[in-house]
Amino acid sequence: MLNTDRPLLSGREPEIENSMWSATAGPHPPSTPLAAQERCDIAIIGGGFNGVTAGLRCGEAGAKTILIEAKSIGAGATGRNAGMVNPGQFLGPDEIKAHLGAEFGQRFVRELGGAPDMVRDIIKTYGIECYADYRPIIRAAHSAKTRAMLEAQTSAWQALGAPVNMVYDNELLSMTGSSRYGAAMMDNRGFTIQPLAYIRALANVAVSKGLRIAAGTPVQALQPEGNHWRIRVGHSSILADKVIVSTNAYTGNLIPEMRDEIMPLGAFGFATDPLPSKWRAKIFPQGHSLYDTHKIPLFFRYDPQGRLKVGCIGFLPREMRRGDWAAKAMRYLFPDGPAFEWRYRWSGTLGQSVDRLPHLIEPLPGILGTIGCNGRGIAPNTYFGTMLAKLALGEAIDTPLPIRKPKSYPRRRLAMESYDAAIRFYRNTALFS
Ligand SMILES: Cc1cc2nc3c(=O)[nH]c(=O)nc-3n(C[C@H](O)[C@H](O)[C@H](O)COP(=O)(O)OP(=O)(O)OC[C@H]3O[C@@H](n4cnc5c(N)ncnc54)[C@H](O)[C@@H]3O)c2cc1C
Repeated sequence: MLNTDRPLLSGREPEIENSMWSATAGPHPPSTPLAAQERCDIAIIGGGFNGVTAGLRCGEAGAKTILIEAKSIGAGATGRNAGMVNPGQFLGPDEIKAHLGAEFGQRFVRELGGAPDMVRDIIKTYGIECYADYRPIIRAAHSAKTRAMLEAQTSAWQALGAPVNMVYDNELLSMTGSSRYGAAMMDNRGFTIQPLAYIRALANVAVSKGLRIAAGTPVQALQPEGNHWRIRVGHSSILADKVIVSTNAYTGNLIPEMRDEIMPLGAFGFATDPLPSKWRAKIFPQGHSLYDTHKIPLFFRYDPQGRLKVGCIGFLPREMRRGDWAAKAMRYLFPDGPAFEWRYRWSGTLGQSVDRLPHLIEPLPGILGTIGCNGRGIAPNTYFGTMLAKLALGEAIDTPLPIRKPKSYPRRRLAMESYDAAIRFYRNTALFS
């Protein structure tokens, strides 16, 4: 049976205002209405990590650039995520090398492994106020098998000189306050941010560097015109030399060639009001963030004001919206904890690719994009946004990922249904056993 709760099919993704990040995000960046006819060097469609980073770089380079966003800056996955700035992908270095081959794999691991530093540099250089917390994120093993997997990944990263280590038992307990996990990987390259605050502040900086933003204006069509692209937006039309498509899992029918490689996958969060200090002293007492090794991971963290967030993968079905699932997740870690009220609940959509790795693509000549950050989108999209800007500006880039045409996801429709059913089944059964 079709899951009609799935936002991209039903159009019912909860508004971003239901997310706890809306409570502490800074001001929206200025948006300028479009005239009937516009002309620019580079048009960017989509205002998330990818598009805004590209916009900042293009603005700094002096290119006349317009970013067109259907809703508001950060309204896609960017303003809805868990704010964990992790390096690379969920795959470890050895798995990545097995996918990409030794040479490309080695470079991919090095560059994507260093991508959180790009976010750090942006925060520092532009004074971005996003409550960055530079303590490492805990990746906790929920079973003996995944403990061994984390130990192998830790050794592989250490062999590459990355600051990654394992923690066990009492040391881990002092960080989590829960005896649920006995081992965890600490990746000191990672850190956390308030993602909606980050992207709004970054967009404000990009505007100060010359980027123009038109928000609340969905692009309806892209048509070739000589060597350029004509972009139709309501009653306006923009003629652009190059187009960067940063719509990711929200691409819809705009570019079918791109949409067909993306497997949209939901993820959601529940959050409390700021917790009293009594509970903050027991639940993640040092304020760390954590995600675990379940096939569908659990995510826990606080926001800057002490709201406790619990998240997971999958779309947020109606029957889960009351918060019973979040209470179950809390009991899994803290069986003696109180029953919290879950004031905020929201979901978002991320994009997986066929091989679970990100790619730079040129679906049509002069149209550039990225696909497949697979739930690791903050640092990688900062890296790819920068690469796309360089390509659009005509600069040479040195990247381990050759630019290619999109491929279609094998049996995409069937895969979407099977994924969705499997996630629901797992989340209601094996996850808490
Ligand atoms: C709940 C959740 C938790 C996550 N947690 C993490 C995490 O902790 N760490 C991490 O690294 N990653 C995480 N991710 C993944 C990460 O958020 C995404 O990979 C990343 O935000 C994608 O950024 P983006 O700029 O490519 O796309 P998006 O942020 O999705 O932006 C796409 C934008 O395109 C716009 N758009 C679409 N169509 C049009 C159109 N026709 N015209 C104009 N605009 C259009 C949309 O409105 C949207 O704003 C999470 C994702 C979710 C959903």
